[in-house]
Amino acid sequence: PLVLGIETSCDETGVGLVRDGVLLADALASSVDEHARYGGVVPEIAARAHLEAMVPTVERALAAAGARPADLDAVAVTAGPGLAGALLVGVAAAKAYALALGVPLYGVHHLAAHVAVDTLEHGPLPSPSIALLVSGGHSSLLLVEDLAAAPVVSLGATVDDAAGEAYDKVARLLGMPFPGGPPIDRAAGEGSPTIPFPRGKAGDGTFDFSFSGLKTAVARWVEARRRAGEPVPVADVAASFQEAVVDVLTAKAVGAARAHGVDTIVIGGGVAANSRLRALAAERCSAAGITLRVPRPGLCTDNGAMVAALGALQVAAGVAPSPLDLPASSTLPLGT
Ligand code: ATP
Ligand code: MG
Ligand code: FE
Repeated sequence: PLVLGIETSCDETGVGLVRDGVLLADALASSVDEHARYGGVVPEIAARAHLEAMVPTVERALAAAGARPADLDAVAVTAGPGLAGALLVGVAAAKAYALALGVPLYGVHHLAAHVAVDTLEHGPLPSPSIALLVSGGHSSLLLVEDLAAAPVVSLGATVDDAAGEAYDKVARLLGMPFPGGPPIDRAAGEGSPTIPFPRGKAGDGTFDFSFSGLKTAVARWVEARRRAGEPVPVADVAASFQEAVVDVLTAKAVGAARAHGVDTIVIGGGVAANSRLRALAAERCSAAGITLRVPRPGLCTDNGAMVAALGALQVAAGVAPSPLDLPASSTLPLGT
């Protein structure tokens, strides 16, 4: 079956096309430049940009796949969580396509889709697997049995900031543009992790995370330098901050796999694009005899392919479609 996936939970209008588990097209329109000067995503601007980009992006995806609307067998859409107004645009569009074409509608969970996208590159996810989900709004460790049909079990989550949020805040205090992940990743590559920033909740026996103390420690360290009139070694600060984040993420992911006797870890979400997280996770998984799966960086940040991927898994699993009055839910809990 040919599945169309629509993603509009934040500032990316994503449209993906998946046929029988194979990615045929992944079209993206982003309003990120319009938010940059506000230092974060402005919900009203995002919603308006989705409205303008929606139909052209669907048409671009169809053209790239050499498909016509009538070829579609199902339409999947992010039903939540995310920005309410932004989600509404995608959900309304998906309903319109499903109704007009007479095909089933599948409302999917954005975070489950961040994990499901990996199946496009690495095939079916072994059951059970540990998923480390690290994005702009979430950071969790999940026990995944069956992405399409069964709820995932949350083993732990951040008690304050998400990992991506910490990247964005630290980038801001270092004078880097939004979103902060890519510029910190780049700067860190030129520096050394010589500053001993705190590892929040490391070794506390839980699978929870905390990044707000780290962010504050970085801010204090940088302010002290500025007050003393000394130059701030930006690359070393970036590298040290990044090492503190990925050290805890990878240690806890491997710990969760060990504790649950699971031999596969999949990493998803925007922060999974981080080069140091990918390298350290590969090192630690290999040392622990664990198979690591991470989608290519372009599929880690928000996109339509991930929604089409999860929709395709639901179609294949015979999951019941969503009703045409499917609501957009800004706080949709995982496992629904
Ligand atoms: P959520 O998925 O929780 O709803 P979101 O959809 O806004 O949030 P994603 O698109 O999944 O988030 O991820 C965006 C986040 O990923 C941003 O915080 C960004 O800084 C971060 N990010 C992107 N690339 C990198 C990178 N190379 N290194 C670290 N962080 C990165
Ligand atoms: Mg984004
Ligand atoms: Fe996301």
